[in-house]
Parts: sequence; C-alpha cells; structure tokens
Amino acid sequence: MILHPPLPVADDLSQAFWEGVNERRLLVQRCAACRRFQFPPDASCASCSSTELSFEEVSGRGAVFSFTETVSGARHPYFQSISPYLVGLVQLEEQEGLIFASNFPGSEYADLEIGAPVDVEFQEIAEGAVIPQFRLRTVRLAER
Ligand SMILES: [Zn+2]
Repeated sequence: MILHPPLPVADDLSQAFWEGVNERRLLVQRCAACRRFQFPPDASCASCSSTELSFEEVSGRGAVFSFTETVSGARHPYFQSISPYLVGLVQLEEQEGLIFASNFPGSEYADLEIGAPVDVEFQEIAEGAVIPQFRLRTVRLAER
C-alpha cells in the first residue's frame, strides 16, 4: 500500500482553487466590493458580507506565521509514517491574515523561524492529486 496524505476533495466553493492548484497556480478568493482576499473560499466575504467574489492568482510568497513539529499522536497512517513532521501556518504577502497551512518540505525544525520567507510549491501527492506546500526560501551566500 502506498501511503499519501489525505487527497483534496473539491466542492462548489473550492473548485476554482483546486483547478488552479492542478495548473500550479495559487488562486485565492477575492471580494470585488472591499478587495480583501480570503481563504478558505466561502459563499460571502468575511469582511463585508458581499457575495461578489472571484478568484485571483497570488504570488505564492509569504512568511512563516507559526510552526511546530508533530512527534506523536498522528491518526492518519501517512502522517504516522512520516512522524516527526513539521506543520505550520504561512501568511501570504498579499494581505495580513491570509493564512495557509503547510508542512515546509525540505526543512527541519531548526531551520524554521517566525517570519522566515517561503514560496509556494506544488506537490503531486498521488496521481492527479496536487496540493500547495510552502518551502523556505533559501538565500545563497552569493546573493546576500
Ligand atoms: Zn468584502
């Protein structure tokens, strides 16, 4: 049995988001009335209650908002198999409070710090199933 994380299941509200992810684009719902982004998608704007919402591509750049290392207690077999693993929240640069969850692929706990810059990447976790994850932006010495 090949283990993978739980697969995304699109519904009416998240369909456009997952279609974007499958095209390796991060599309976030935005309100036409107040211009606020929101995630996850909802039927109305959390800020002004407008229902004039559409999806806009965002940069995929952000910063670590919080993080932890899960060392025990995972219930899903995939997460049990990769424990310990990192999990945390990323705030996108487009807007304060625009938050995504991520596992920080390629990083170890000691690499992470609040505010560290990250970039979205798209991982195919099973055939035809893609999820967004955020990877620490590594700065090469020559670029400093
Ligand atoms: Zn609004």
